[in-house]
Amino acid sequence: MLYLCFPPLTPAGDSKRVIEIEKFKYEIADIRDAFLTHQRTRHVDFARLRPAVTLPATFFSPGTVREHVITLQREPPAFTKYRLTTETTENLKQPSFDVWQWEPNEMLALIEHMYRELGLLEEFCISPPTIRNFLVSVQENYRNNPFHNFRHCFCVTQMMYCLIYLCRLPEKLSKKELGVLITACICHDLDHPGYNNSYQINARTELAVRYNDASPLENHHCAVGFRILANPECNIFSSLPESLFKEIRGEIILLILATDMARHSEIVDDFKKKLENFDYKNVNHLTALKMILIKACDISNEVRPSKVAEPWVDCLLEEYFNQAETEKQEGLPVAPFMDRDKVTKASAQISFIKFVLIPLFEDISQLFPQVEEALVVPLRHAREHYEQLKEAEEDMRRLAQSKSIA
Ligand code: 5GP
Ligand code: MN
Repeated sequence: MLYLCFPPLTPAGDSKRVIEIEKFKYEIADIRDAFLTHQRTRHVDFARLRPAVTLPATFFSPGTVREHVITLQREPPAFTKYRLTTETTENLKQPSFDVWQWEPNEMLALIEHMYRELGLLEEFCISPPTIRNFLVSVQENYRNNPFHNFRHCFCVTQMMYCLIYLCRLPEKLSKKELGVLITACICHDLDHPGYNNSYQINARTELAVRYNDASPLENHHCAVGFRILANPECNIFSSLPESLFKEIRGEIILLILATDMARHSEIVDDFKKKLENFDYKNVNHLTALKMILIKACDISNEVRPSKVAEPWVDCLLEEYFNQAETEKQEGLPVAPFMDRDKVTKASAQISFIKFVLIPLFEDISQLFPQVEEALVVPLRHAREHYEQLKEAEEDMRRLAQSKSIA
């Protein structure tokens, strides 16, 4: 029997984390090499890493409903193997939770725990096999991208779980709404191909054509989520009346579509207006709040301790550089923030933290003052950390320049 516990602050706990991060980086390097050499390797499922989404032809044929269903490729793990200690379940509610410690099956068990703890299994009458099938199917439909992978899905969901407790949301929102928040987080980047909307649109991929350039990725993530739910084995909402299912579906769609960063200012401005006289009984106000919460969770890595947050920057840059290389090869425009020659870890993070993250979390703290201490303060520390890193990077550059002149 394997007992999961939060890593102790000992060298042993630390070394497991380091191994996990190193293993992950190794996989990223593998993926990049596979792209560069265009060879199939043992580690990379190359077919699932294509820039444009390519689902089987039968998937879209106007046939029976079965053809529109994503089927489970493996049995859920024996969950009885995974017993969570109280220490783990308590730490799971904290932004300091070390998201790099856990193997894929362990992350499934942790997410199942969130549903149970929030009372969602009871609320939606979800049986143990159904929640497990749903989560396994979700996991199978995240790709092994450097950044947009199942661990990112876990991070976003876990941060939502933290916010639910930090902001005492169960006192303000119904269980249905908590279920919508958690399920939207789980599905929010499903089948992400590792190339962003700009690439999809500029390369005129299948996705961009299908969704007429309007948030093609987010539309796809959402559609894949509902295809998973179309499989009765995986449908966690199957016990609900049709009208409630429709309501939940509509809300999940709104939340996943809100994660398109191209809509950032629009969504933040709308929330700020509603903050002036926020009313929990007003459906439009609640929707604006839920959209802001999923957006905040989606980009929240830097709220975490630096040893947890920083590897994610490497992952993001790896995915960016990979896209930029493809864009150069295909003669497509390359965004400066994705260009290996123009961006560094520090430069990527300083402006993102300063202009996107701090203002967003400060807005949220107007409604929930406890967010200031728990999340905004760590963001300010992160900004200082990257400002120091930037100085160090510049010193190194000057040193290298002076050496090359000499
Ligand atoms: P996602 O693609 O995960 O749904 O949307 C979030 C987007 O925000 C990412 O694709 C990425 O462009 C951006 N983002 C998220 N976290 C960070 C971060 O820590 N630093 C930077 N520079 N961008 C981020
Ligand atoms: Mn995301």
